[in-house]
Amino acid sequence: SQNKQTLSFQAEVAQLLHLVTHSLYSNKEIFLRELVSNASDACDKLRFEALSDNSLYEDAPKLEVRIAFDKQARTLTITDNGIGLSQQEAIENLGTIAKSGTREFMSRLSGDQKADAQLIGQFGVGFYSGFIVADRITVESRRAGLPTDQGVRWTSGGTGDFEVETITRPQRGTSVILHLKEDATEYLSTWKLKSIVGKYSDHISLPILMRKEEWKEGEDNKGGEMVLTDEWETVNQASALWTRSKKDISEDQYKAFYRQISHDHEDPLAWSHNRVEGSTEYTQLLYIPAHAPFDLWNREKAAGVKLYVKRVFIMDDAQALMPVYLRFVRGVIDSADLPLNVSRELLQESRDVRAIREGSTKRVLSMLEELAKLEKDESASEEDRAKYAKFYAEFGAVLKEGLGEDFGNRDRIAKLLRFASTQSDTPNVSLADYKARMKEGQEAIYYITADTLAAAKNSPQLEVFRKKGIEVLLMTDRVDEWALNYLHEFDGTPMQSVAKGAVDLGKLQDETEKKAAEEAAEAFKPVLAKLKEALKDRAEDVRVTSRLVDSPACLVVSDGGMSMQLARMLKQAGQ
Ligand code: ADP
Ligand code: MG
Repeated sequence: SQNKQTLSFQAEVAQLLHLVTHSLYSNKEIFLRELVSNASDACDKLRFEALSDNSLYEDAPKLEVRIAFDKQARTLTITDNGIGLSQQEAIENLGTIAKSGTREFMSRLSGDQKADAQLIGQFGVGFYSGFIVADRITVESRRAGLPTDQGVRWTSGGTGDFEVETITRPQRGTSVILHLKEDATEYLSTWKLKSIVGKYSDHISLPILMRKEEWKEGEDNKGGEMVLTDEWETVNQASALWTRSKKDISEDQYKAFYRQISHDHEDPLAWSHNRVEGSTEYTQLLYIPAHAPFDLWNREKAAGVKLYVKRVFIMDDAQALMPVYLRFVRGVIDSADLPLNVSRELLQESRDVRAIREGSTKRVLSMLEELAKLEKDESASEEDRAKYAKFYAEFGAVLKEGLGEDFGNRDRIAKLLRFASTQSDTPNVSLADYKARMKEGQEAIYYITADTLAAAKNSPQLEVFRKKGIEVLLMTDRVDEWALNYLHEFDGTPMQSVAKGAVDLGKLQDETEKKAAEEAAEAFKPVLAKLKEALKDRAEDVRVTSRLVDSPACLVVSDGGMSMQLARMLKQAGQ
């Protein structure tokens, strides 16, 4: 037709398409998960926009997804009556604007098909997975609220370009029509499609419909076959998992739901499902993942809790519901009290939201405490006992941010921290462990910060501690320095950096050592004076020290001063 235009994929999209289709063919079936999840997202969006404009429902208020196929034409079609796409949106979202994660995604592809297939969902490049099984995809859509003659048809063979044209489309929403490749005809089967839906999309909270099949005898009773009828049936559970009672939900269902909302392929380490009653009523289903997402360090973006109000989806990544240092938590919070038209701004100010955040924070910390307890529980399985260390390796550094962010829970967070030490190369020493083996007369928890474990271990500042057999915690995370500023003591014992000020070993030093130190200080006075004079612009002070055993000299900073580690970091950052 006249209005047809051909456009090129944006360069990164084209590259991505190539990669997707060439690296994922052994994991074909995920395309259905991705397309159904898009259909479900589109319905969520409609529901949300319709809160302020009910007419968007037009004459079809019941939201649903339909999957149909045509053996003769070799097509598979996924249709939703969600928000739909305008022509402009089709151009942008399906071809010209690469998602922020695209480049990152491509750099992460490992060549291992299984792992790469998992990445696809995580990075939100799902639509293109259709090209794993299709050599042409046609999308027909009309955005809710637009007149019927302003529909759009988008079509592409998945290589360099795509075409768009205006069409008339009576029904609202989107149909994605996959023209299947010759080697993908296995998806033209009700049984096959049902089993994939069951595997990945069972908990999508709206109905997924397929045509019913019926046995038809052959002519003269010879043979026979399954034929499609005109009747549609729901093929998924279609109930929001979190609204069901705990006792009716199996472990596998909890895990499947986690995979669906997180796009993670690994099982979560733990979850917690509760209905909270009282002045603020809500249901929470929160999960601790087993590994970090690619954007864990993006404090702006990352937040993994979806907000629902009375089962109506309101928003993803509701940051106000969880403190930033718990941004790795995934899950759902469904409030009975918030207004349906709640905005992000309103969320920040709501008292109910504050109560939900506090309750959810406590819940997550309890989950972590449980995992930490399992670690020491000899009757627990090996797998369970390994969970806390696994969690800590992935998220420990993020958890530490909580020391500076959540004063109310600082003590609970401190108990959850683990460090390497002069007695353990693996970071598994808790502050409580440390305290339990402190030397008689030791009055502080000693620690040192450095860039690497090797640098920390070889620091001359540790010499006297080693000689006296005093354990020192070795801290090598970038956030340690900052986080430790907020932790002055643990359980009544002060935290003391061995690189700061005069190390006062107090009662650990015997009388003869003290005397020897005083005599040495006296004897070296003239030398110190000369050194001070020579270094006067570069050193604040020059002192005789008892912290060294083998090395002749070392640098320290004054007690209130910025540590050398932090100073180096700031210098690197150009400050
Ligand atoms: P994501 O779902 O992570 O945004 P996708 O590649 O799966 O990434 O989809 C890209 C975009 O295409 C979506 O964000 C959405 O704007 C649009 N889209 C895809 N499928 C549909 C659909 N069924 N209805 C409306 N919009 C859709
Ligand atoms: Mg998607």
